[in-house]
Amino acid sequence: MKTVIIGAGAMGSLFGGLLSLSGKEVWLVDVWEEHVDAIRSNGLAIEEKGKAETVSINATSGVTSVGKADLILYFVKTYHTEKAINDSLVLQKEDTLFLTLQNGLGNEEMICKQVDRKKVILGVTGQGATLLGPGQIRHAGWGKTYVGELDGKITDRTDQIARMLNNAGIETEVSSRIHDLVWEKLFVNVGINALAALLGLKNGQLLDYPETLRLLESLVSEAIEVAKRKGIQVQGNPMDRVKVVIEATRENRCSMGQDLDRKRRTEIDAINGAVVREAERLGISVPYNRMITDLIKVIEKTF
Ligand code: NAD
Repeated sequence: MKTVIIGAGAMGSLFGGLLSLSGKEVWLVDVWEEHVDAIRSNGLAIEEKGKAETVSINATSGVTSVGKADLILYFVKTYHTEKAINDSLVLQKEDTLFLTLQNGLGNEEMICKQVDRKKVILGVTGQGATLLGPGQIRHAGWGKTYVGELDGKITDRTDQIARMLNNAGIETEVSSRIHDLVWEKLFVNVGINALAALLGLKNGQLLDYPETLRLLESLVSEAIEVAKRKGIQVQGNPMDRVKVVIEATRENRCSMGQDLDRKRRTEIDAINGAVVREAERLGISVPYNRMITDLIKVIEKTF
């Protein structure tokens, strides 16, 4: 399964590097020329638990040299998805599959606007990675990855993708309820990212103050309400799961926090902003998510 990864930052390079190590044909595509040049000249350096490994992998800043793809995997930030899909359409043949493992909501809709939805596969990943510099990443998280058909059917092609990822050491399951799982991950991002980012806190500190706990619970409760009204099957207690993730990542500064610290655009529109959009469609009020989205957007405008 020839795989082309669009967006070869932290996560794209991680998945590409591990797939390449397992013997698969993989291409990394990224608009960041310095990163692509470094990978082409010196290989991709993956640091994991203190050890470094260099992987030889195809990398390019333009898709024209790649040929056709069996699988296109998107790992750009959500605000680049639309353009990335458009750029990648030349890779398409009749049976090309399009998979997103990005965070947030809206990626599926953006792909389906440009691609036949029968070719689209949705996923979510608990893997984590950090970009250290051109050609260098750190593998930082090992959670499960799920992939699934939009209609919930278990198919040969989702099995094939899961098998390929498992063979590369990326623990993956096929799910018949992939939309529910996307929302489950969204609850975590909705609770942690913007709040920790705004307050300059590490994830764990959100549990240390009654005020942050209250805010966190309000943000997540609103998202759960929206999910339920949309027909998402919310299993167990999502609030407990958010807190488990916070404990497990206690020392981390979340990605949105790092984005604000470096005065970079955030994925707020796909996270809390997406909850606001969905709520508006349903006629529900989500004041905590609206306020935190507006606050982040004003900060972004002052960069
Ligand atoms: P990143 O910023 O490290 O990488 C994104 C890359 O996309 C950049 O290198 C950028 O140059 C490239 N890019 C932008 N536009 C492009 C285009 N049109 N064509 C090709 N490349 C383009 O981001 P990341 O941390 O790897 O995150 C990617 C996605 O995965 C996000 O949605 C994020 O929320 C999600 N995610 C991240 C993690 C993590 O631990 N980093 C974990 C789970 C999910």
